Amino acid sequence: MTGHEPLQATPESCDLCGHTMIEWNCELICQNCGYRRDCSDP
Ligand SMILES: [Zn+2]
Repeated sequence: MTGHEPLQATPESCDLCGHTMIEWNCELICQNCGYRRDCSDP
């Protein structure tokens, strides 16, 4: 981790592990388990 990733923390929680997800390229990505979800999903 460099601390310079252009990632946005979101209020979303991972469906699999409950970790806070980040938004990147209109995807929600869990940095804990790698689960990905399109950000247009509810
Ligand atoms: Zn997860």
